[in-house]
Amino acid sequence: MFIARDLIMGNKNFAVSVEEAQKIILDSVRPLDYESISIIEASRRVLYEDIVSDIMIPPMDDSAMDGYAIIADDTKGATKEKPVSLKVTGEIQAGGSIVGKKVSKGTAIRIMTGAPIPEGADSVVRFEDTKEEAGYVKIFCDTAKYNNYRFAGENIKKEDRVLCKGDRLRSADIGVLASLNYDTVRVYKQPTVAIISTGDELARVGETLQAGQIRNVNAYTLYSEVKRYSGIPDYLGIAKDTLKDMKEIFLKALKYDVVISTGGVSAGRYDFVKEIYSDLNIEIQFERVNIKPGRPFVFGKKDNKLFFGLPGNPVPTLTSFIQFVRPALLRLMGATRIQKPIVNAFLEGDIRSIRAYHLVRGYFTVKNNEFYVLPTGNQKPSVLRSMSDANCLIVVPEDVTKVKAGEKVAIQLIDHDEIG
Ligand code: AMP
Ligand code: MG
Repeated sequence: MFIARDLIMGNKNFAVSVEEAQKIILDSVRPLDYESISIIEASRRVLYEDIVSDIMIPPMDDSAMDGYAIIADDTKGATKEKPVSLKVTGEIQAGGSIVGKKVSKGTAIRIMTGAPIPEGADSVVRFEDTKEEAGYVKIFCDTAKYNNYRFAGENIKKEDRVLCKGDRLRSADIGVLASLNYDTVRVYKQPTVAIISTGDELARVGETLQAGQIRNVNAYTLYSEVKRYSGIPDYLGIAKDTLKDMKEIFLKALKYDVVISTGGVSAGRYDFVKEIYSDLNIEIQFERVNIKPGRPFVFGKKDNKLFFGLPGNPVPTLTSFIQFVRPALLRLMGATRIQKPIVNAFLEGDIRSIRAYHLVRGYFTVKNNEFYVLPTGNQKPSVLRSMSDANCLIVVPEDVTKVKAGEKVAIQLIDHDEIG
């Protein structure tokens, strides 16, 4: 890979591309170990093992309807006016036994949804198409073979690989695990994530704002994002803009799998994060990305630990988290699918851009099965409101400087699950 650190460090303005940055980050990830947990705790966790079925589901042929188990041939030509009459010889409930129960020519057995199909029967006619009287049932329709009939193993066969190592478990997956009688399951451990805010100007939520202070917003958005991607966040507090304060807090952070800090990475006089990295032997991999917003962005590693120095402004904090930190967290947990889907949408409104991978906050709607997207207002990096109003990011590539209303743009569906 042609990203020599010396070259980057040598040229003060060198910025890696978004793709390069993502690659460098993912190449630095060593997935974590595994643990066994109860399946009821396993939602959104990532499987450490393939799940291969050792049973058939359903285990035997069963009925998909409440009705009568019959021989299809017996109903040939049956209509409402000219029903066929069959002798009812018994009943089978869901969970009931079929021992000693058999359907032979001219007979039927009452059967409930989920009950096993008795010997001899090859079809089920639903109650609505029948009428039972004095031990006989009138069948009002010509019924095909295997009507309302569920075959053994049609849901899952023996040896089917139903879930794969690297899948992030969703509700249906947890249900499938239950159906296969998994009580516990092996999943990757969750990364521990330290969150650090930097800046003399920051006040906690609940504190009275002094002149010149602003709220510490980033710690909250990041905490929420880390939880969303199944990391274990730990907020370490606000570091003042002094080398001493920053070093103290970063020293505490060294035991976590991932350290995310915000602010202090641009060219200001009090932007000390990079200096702290060097001091603590955290190897800086790059310090600028050609992305807007969020150009100053330091990524470092030490042993297997990852250090993300995100920009201070609340929007690039979040958009850079989505582009760079989120995939790393998912990879740490062994997830194979880490891409947010990108689809085309018709732009409603104009966009002026600069020569950077430009992320514009937008709100997409779907009309007549087509995507449309409207930018959500003020796009300054400090305006988190327009991010809160957004449900996607419009991706304007580096070589495009203007997009007009009605043209197609790519949008990243940030609220959608990851795809492979
Ligand atoms: P910096 O890179 O530290 O100069 O920060 C860039 C901008 O982001 C400044 O206007 C900061 O006040 C703002 N900022 C930094 N950290 C936070 C934070 N935790 N919450 C909200 N705004 C922040
Ligand atoms: Mg600052």
